[in-house]
Amino acid sequence: MKIIMLGAPGAGKGTQAKRIADKWQIPHISTGDIFRANIKEGTELGKEAKKYMDQGALVPDELTVKLLLDRVAKDDCKNGYVLDGFPRTIPQAEVLDKALAELGDTVDFAVNVDVPDENIINRMSGRRACVSCGATYHITYAPTKTEGICDRCGKELILREDDKPETVQKRLEVYHKQTQPLIDYYAKKEILKTVDGTKDMEEVFQDIVAILGA
Ligand code: ADP
Ligand code: ADP
Ligand code: ZN
Repeated sequence: MKIIMLGAPGAGKGTQAKRIADKWQIPHISTGDIFRANIKEGTELGKEAKKYMDQGALVPDELTVKLLLDRVAKDDCKNGYVLDGFPRTIPQAEVLDKALAELGDTVDFAVNVDVPDENIINRMSGRRACVSCGATYHITYAPTKTEGICDRCGKELILREDDKPETVQKRLEVYHKQTQPLIDYYAKKEILKTVDGTKDMEEVFQDIVAILGA
């Protein structure tokens, strides 16, 4: 099963993608996580991506597309995957469709986690991230057992540089302009499924499970 998560920054794509990946035993592929891992390791790709990420802008398609196509060509993707944060532009979606079409394949579902802009700033300011294992928490809605420490791997959590309110505002603008058109794109392909992302995490997941057919 091949699934794409759509939604504004902070809508809960990552949170739900991880649960889907666990339940269906498929890899969770987050382009944002891959970029952050590269930044941490100090690679050329990381240095280049950081310039855009810190501004709340998108990393150029040329850099992003290659990375994603290499990742989905790996062996562990044979039975499908859940993409979180890709595609974010129409050209990215077209490249993915074309690559899959060459294999006689298609995306099965585009799950749109719908959350209005008003709720987003609050979500982001409370988000805490683990750069070591990719886990995400929220100081109110998904707290860790020990403050500031990842439940999964024991490393220290960070408040992402790009989760500060000024950058979040910019990311929302970028989302509306460049990523939201994908909702129409997948609606036309009749694979768009929208869930109400303002419900609590467990309810959102149950709605997704009902759609994907447990
Ligand atoms: P969030 O989950 O909050 O939406 P991500 O971790 O997905 O954030 O992405 C963080 C940043 O990484 C984005 O603001 C953007 O700069 C970059 N990025 C991630 N995925 C893509 C992509 N598919 N295309 C371009 N830039 C991307
Ligand atoms: P995205 O990947 O779309 O940027 P995340 O999954 O990282 O979003 O979620 C953003 C923040 O909101 C995180 O701190 C997460 O713990 C929290 N969160 C996710 N889903 C919900 C929800 N349904 N209700 C409340 N908080 C949520
Ligand atoms: Zn961790």
